[in-house]
Amino acid sequence: MAEFDVDLFVIGGGSGGVRAARIAAGYGARVTIAEEYRMGGTCVIRGCVPKKLFVIGSHVRHEIEDAAGFGWSIPQATFDWPTLIANKDKEIARLEAAYTTNVEKSGARIVKSRAVIEDAHTVRLLENDKKITAKYILIATGGAPNHGAVIPGIEHVISSNEAFHLPNLPRRIVIQGGGYIALEFAGIFAGYGSDVTVIYRGDNILRGFDDDVRAHVRSEMEKNGITILTGCTVNRVEKHGSDFTTHLSNGSSIASDQVMFAIGRHPAVANLGLEKAGVAINPKNGGIAVDGFSKSSVDSIYAIGDVTHRFNLTPVAIREGHAFADTVFGKREVRVDHADIPTAVFSQPEVGTVGLTETEARAIYDRVDIYKATFRPIKATMSGRDTRVLMKLVVDGSSDRVLGCHIVGDAAAEIVQAVAIAVKMKATKADFDATIALHPTAAEELVTMRTPTARHVRQAAE
Ligand code: FAD
Ligand code: NDP
Repeated sequence: MAEFDVDLFVIGGGSGGVRAARIAAGYGARVTIAEEYRMGGTCVIRGCVPKKLFVIGSHVRHEIEDAAGFGWSIPQATFDWPTLIANKDKEIARLEAAYTTNVEKSGARIVKSRAVIEDAHTVRLLENDKKITAKYILIATGGAPNHGAVIPGIEHVISSNEAFHLPNLPRRIVIQGGGYIALEFAGIFAGYGSDVTVIYRGDNILRGFDDDVRAHVRSEMEKNGITILTGCTVNRVEKHGSDFTTHLSNGSSIASDQVMFAIGRHPAVANLGLEKAGVAINPKNGGIAVDGFSKSSVDSIYAIGDVTHRFNLTPVAIREGHAFADTVFGKREVRVDHADIPTAVFSQPEVGTVGLTETEARAIYDRVDIYKATFRPIKATMSGRDTRVLMKLVVDGSSDRVLGCHIVGDAAAEIVQAVAIAVKMKATKADFDATIALHPTAAEELVTMRTPTARHVRQAAE
């Protein structure tokens, strides 16, 4: 008789857990995966995918506005939010079913239940109180939205989870936060016609991104009619019938039909039995502490994806899940390389970025060259839209290596995915220059910027 009921028990059927389960099963492991909500996890059910569908739909407003300059005369367009939601729900249900089928096809077994850890080799299913023993346990429980301090009226505030299921498009919405989700939803709601106010506590949105990107996105979003209030927070939310009044720390107040917070997410570590099993938490970020192979402080328990709070992105969770399965069941040790992860903010305009920001590069390298261009995209010359694209390369002036690439504008994410290969390969500025431009594109700017717009040389310490 086998020592354990299964070789691998995966807790969480999201991006990372599903990949790990499928790859491990492919290596012949006996795998069970527990999911308490819907297969596919955050990305598929209430994250990347429905968000991108919303973004694509909300772009249509711009397309219609821009069409006039190209000779189109489009009669008054109308938009129906319930149709958008119903069609999105249909697509998400299709994807959920595909995830389920693919896991089952791989030979892994799915149990629809919350699972908690009892000890280093045992999990308990809350659905039927059944205990299952496993040689290895993989925690892939993801994360959940932060609610922030308990302010009066917090019960009226929605997160991104609810934003995907609103019965109506809010005429006016207040969104607190200056990161990925706040800016993506600001663009979505504004695109569909809502009056949007973003409330951000710092001096400029997108902290951690390149400063030129931050300034450019803000000014473009403001040109699109979004109000961005910085240096303040939400103190109190009052409900009057179906209206809300949001009171801010600067003494002002805003009326709206919906109030949303997008103020970060926390790893889903609560009530999982971690203390019982002796799984340590990383004191720096509140996620499960893991080594380079995603192993926790307990030899038989691993953790991947958002629950480790390293880089909370789907492709990272997938890569970590795959590397875990290769290492533990595939007889080859794979350590995930977290350097130069490309990322995009699907704000409008969108941001694509990979590598170091100017500030980060200048803190590390003695000589940093900056190549920066802002220009009017070709489409705007005919549509008349007041918009500009930003392209920026951060280069190590000593080795000529391209350290970072930052783009704001249409298709920034698509462009940066390809540029990320070059950055990962340690391409130099000379390699970029040797590449012949593809014309007429916006991306050709990346291989035609010849002269640095700034050169920073660190003075030797006295
Ligand atoms: P998840 O996908 O969150 O999966 C965890 C699963 O575990 C969930 O299904 C949960 O129900 C289940 N679970 C939790 N506890 C238990 C338990 N005890 N028992 C059983 N099941 C349990 N990333 C990108 O790369 N690009 C994007 O464009 C993007 N957009 C996003 C937009 C939004 C609005 C949000 C919220 C996130 C977005 N992300 C995006 C981030 C991305 O969704 C996450 O990084 C990714 O889903 C993490 O995968 P994971 O496997 O770690 O966790
Ligand atoms: P982010 O970390 O991106 O942004 C959180 C924002 O909320 C920041 O502006 C932060 O300000 C602010 N904030 C934090 N705490 C408070 C508070 N108590 N009161 C007021 N403001 C506060 O988190 P998101 O929620 O937007 O997204 C969560 C994560 O999900 C992202 O970090 C990303 O990893 C992932 N994601 C990825 C996407 C993509 O790849 N396109 C899209 C959506 C999500 P400050 O900067 O001052 O700390």
